Amino acid sequence: MTAHEVSLYNTRTRRKEAFVPIKPKEVKIYTCGPTVYSPQHIGNMRPYMFADLLRRTFLLKGFSVFHVTNITDVGHLTDDGDSGDDKMEVAAKKSGRKAEEIADEYTAQWLEDRRLLNCVDPDVLCKATDHIAEQVALCQKLESKGYTYRISDGIYFDISKFPGYANFAKLDLLKEGEGRIKDVSGKRHYADFALWKFAEKGVARQQEWDSPWGRGFPGWHLECSAMSWRYLGERFDIHTGGVDHIKIHHTNEIAQSEAAFGVNPWVSYWMHNEFLDFRGKKMSKSLGNICVLRDLIDAGFHPLSYRYFFLQAHYRKQQTFTDEAMAAADKGYRRLRAVTEGLAGCESDSSEEGVEKIVQRFYAAVYDDLNAPQVLALAGEVVRKSGLSDSARRYLVELIDSWLGLNLLSPLSQELGKESDPRIDDLVQRREAARQEKNFSEADRIRDLLMDEGVTIEDTPDGSTWHRFK
Ligand code: AMP
Ligand code: ZN
Repeated sequence: MTAHEVSLYNTRTRRKEAFVPIKPKEVKIYTCGPTVYSPQHIGNMRPYMFADLLRRTFLLKGFSVFHVTNITDVGHLTDDGDSGDDKMEVAAKKSGRKAEEIADEYTAQWLEDRRLLNCVDPDVLCKATDHIAEQVALCQKLESKGYTYRISDGIYFDISKFPGYANFAKLDLLKEGEGRIKDVSGKRHYADFALWKFAEKGVARQQEWDSPWGRGFPGWHLECSAMSWRYLGERFDIHTGGVDHIKIHHTNEIAQSEAAFGVNPWVSYWMHNEFLDFRGKKMSKSLGNICVLRDLIDAGFHPLSYRYFFLQAHYRKQQTFTDEAMAAADKGYRRLRAVTEGLAGCESDSSEEGVEKIVQRFYAAVYDDLNAPQVLALAGEVVRKSGLSDSARRYLVELIDSWLGLNLLSPLSQELGKESDPRIDDLVQRREAARQEKNFSEADRIRDLLMDEGVTIEDTPDGSTWHRFK
């Protein structure tokens, strides 16, 4: 264990702060999850890999972690500012399928991608449609405290009753718009937002429920306040999500929760990941410039090479996805793992001179607002560093990988499909012959050549075998 304190950048205060939990040695985290009307692209996976690093950070620090992530399967309108149709309903109409079936399909895809990216499962995974009662109860609580008003299309939160509304996102409320809609007749302020929307008469909807206000469905922002209330209580430590949520979604979550529970701050630390850009713009379902994890795998990349790619940038920095950067990450990952997997059979030794210094550098980087690029560089340094025994290396790689989550000690071959290719067999044999002749530069040249094609060679006492990741 280490003396370093965990320091995190808090969007609420716009500062890096030492982390002080509400209860000693416990951390409660809520992560805004996916809206499951279409596939989650690789940009969407950034918030979950980031939350996974956060979780691993506290486990490393010896905290007990309770992590909740939601699945939005109702209420998220085509415009975050409460206009348009429900994304689930639109997808259902377009495809002629049931909203529930669509939600199940994309939830399964998201879970599979999380698994492939080594994101540890949250303690609670909760769907908005399974928590309608909690959302109604929260809306009633706000109503009884006088924070709501009713208009023709729903029950709205009245931001004029919550004077601190603009603080979190430093909004200039006099400046019209800020991405919101003004065209709902009866809305008192453009930033007032729907808590409960009424089902329109004569419009067939798949997702609607009874409520004290009539049939309808919850507004998107309500679900995160209601489900975090159910699983984490009226106050908790950390809330995470993408930076796009700061101005509307998280601002509205704060208004609802602080008003309903009479707390301030509702959440101690707010943490936001920056975007993944692609072809000069934010990767986004609505812009259509998306790429999913399966595309990367089909192109021959190891799924964890995408985690490696993600780790190359700090979570608060925009990251640009290009084919070249991805190929370089894949190469870097395979090279690293080709060396580290060879350490798996060694004893682990932490007592060697020089180890403690590296351990302290590792903790310092992790606890300094999750500095993944620094930790990744440290992993590379450990592998290359002369003067460390394999046992010391094994100890360090295991420790570092408990945070990076890159499976560095498991043999790649266990994950690989068997394949036959006479051309590659021939190259492997030529490499073997070069090694016999002690022509190591030629042997390395062939190995690099094959690595560029996604082929890894494994040297065993019975000769060399090769695998390609499927
Ligand atoms: P959604 O499924 O649209 O609700 O988005 C799921 C999560 O992905 C949210 O936390 C968004 O902030 C985040 N997100 C969306 N696009 C990107 C992107 N290009 N890069 C990083 N995060 C993103
Ligand atoms: Zn949310």
